[in-house]
Amino acid sequence: MTRRELLERTGRVALTAGVLPFAGPLAELARAAPPGIYGQLARTLQGDVVVPGDPAYGQARVLFDTRFDGVHPHAVVFCESLTDVERTITWARRHGLRIAPRSGGHSYGGYSLSPGVVVDVSRLSRVALGPQRRAVVGAGARLIDVYAGLWEHGLTVPAGTSPTVGIAGLTLGGGIGFGARKFGLTCDNLVEATVVTASGRALVCNAHEHADLYWALRGGGGGNFGVVTRFVFRTHPVAGVATYALEWPWSDARPVVQAWQKWAPHAPDGLFSVCNLNCAGGGSPRITSAGQFFGTAQQLKTLIAPLTATGSPTRVSVVSRTYMDAARMWAGCSGTIAECHLQPQGALGRSTFKGKSDYANKLFSARAVDTLVRGIESRKTRGSGSAIVLLDSSGGAINRVPKGATAFVHRDALFSLQYLAYWQPTDPPAVGAANLRFLRNLYAAMRPFVSGFSYQNYIDPELSSWKHAYYGSNLARLVSVKRRHDPGNVFNFRQSIPTRL
Ligand SMILES: Cc1cc2nc3c(=O)[nH]c(=O)nc-3n(C[C@H](O)[C@H](O)[C@H](O)COP(=O)(O)OP(=O)(O)OC[C@H]3O[C@@H](n4cnc5c(N)ncnc54)[C@H](O)[C@@H]3O)c2cc1C
Repeated sequence: MTRRELLERTGRVALTAGVLPFAGPLAELARAAPPGIYGQLARTLQGDVVVPGDPAYGQARVLFDTRFDGVHPHAVVFCESLTDVERTITWARRHGLRIAPRSGGHSYGGYSLSPGVVVDVSRLSRVALGPQRRAVVGAGARLIDVYAGLWEHGLTVPAGTSPTVGIAGLTLGGGIGFGARKFGLTCDNLVEATVVTASGRALVCNAHEHADLYWALRGGGGGNFGVVTRFVFRTHPVAGVATYALEWPWSDARPVVQAWQKWAPHAPDGLFSVCNLNCAGGGSPRITSAGQFFGTAQQLKTLIAPLTATGSPTRVSVVSRTYMDAARMWAGCSGTIAECHLQPQGALGRSTFKGKSDYANKLFSARAVDTLVRGIESRKTRGSGSAIVLLDSSGGAINRVPKGATAFVHRDALFSLQYLAYWQPTDPPAVGAANLRFLRNLYAAMRPFVSGFSYQNYIDPELSSWKHAYYGSNLARLVSVKRRHDPGNVFNFRQSIPTRL
């Protein structure tokens, strides 16, 4: 979409450094510039400042999860250049305004939306191939655009599944997906980042320059140290993959979880798999497993034998596809790439949900599996909404990185658990409350069986021991990097890395 189309579609106010480059309708729009300090900022930027009262405000402020729709920032600043980000941070500091960096807006805790100023980098979304086949990616690119842009060159950066997640939030907290056991986490493939720190200056961080920040951004970077504007990633050649999908009767749930946990974390690196237990209110619980293998369908059939030999699968499907077709399938995107974006630009809708997470560092006992299975079963008798528990395999390239080599500490897990509850935005508050209660109860029941660590990208405002849960033995170093680069704690939110322990 051109800038003109964007402005015409959204009706946003546009002002550039004292000059109005547009005639006609855009000049009209520009005259409606926000007043006061916001107008002053807008005049210095290439991008736009959207404030309450602007026609675009309602759309500009919302995140992916509708639970945060009640938060109203003073302004959303759509930055279009590194200079825009530098100027916005300097300006926000001058006026004592709170800053929330935002890329894709998928924060589970709503931390990319604050009552202060949202520094939105979504227009910095270019995906290009640089020297040494490295991917140069604007911090606002969505995952589907990263996959599609690199696929044109037969390359990829391992990333997550959801098409609309932003590359910045994902990378800065780790980044797990169907290529992770083969190629590592997204953050493991980061070779350089440009970040505007609290000083209002951009720093280029890599193994040689600002190496402390480069270390911290790989797992501890979401909203903590500054606003990242650009990433450079190592890429990997990709062509075809094989994928599998299995389903069993619910009566097989216990043996399937047992078989999966013994098998998935130790499978060859090329195979990443998920075990999915879910139940909609009033419906029947289901257990499925799906995975992707960098190899042939025949090899994959042999590899999944421990799963297909468990219980009586009702569905066994193994399919060869291009890597990009697989990425689109995991993304749940059957339409065009343009449609794989959120409305109004694309066809996808937002969600109403709450997530929590755990890591399992040792095999689940029969009691642990039973607790999980019964927990999911309990969902069917409770009103509307649905529950999912996803077990994502670790191991492979993820666990070969030493714990202290990057800020992402979860390198010895067998698998992660993600607990999710979904309901409708139009549901009465009691439905949301019942879903939250279900989620908290299941999470509480699993305490005796898990490691005490949680995935920082499934950030959870309810966690009391979050510093340890997200960062473990890397916490002290993260705090010292924070003190060096943001001594005034400009970048702070409820679970931001503190300047002191
Ligand atoms: C539907 C869905 C699917 C998901 N699938 C996966 C998955 O497959 N794998 C996985 O690992 N994770 C997954 N996640 C979790 C996801 O990685 C995190 O929610 C991530 O933080 C989202 O990034 P974002 O840029 O979209 O979100 P945002 O809300 O924009 O940002 C998240 C955090 O990062 C900060 N931030 C954003 N941009 C910047 C920036 N430019 N510089 C500095 N800080 C910044 C924000 O302030 C906020 O604290 C999923 C989440 C959802 C909602």
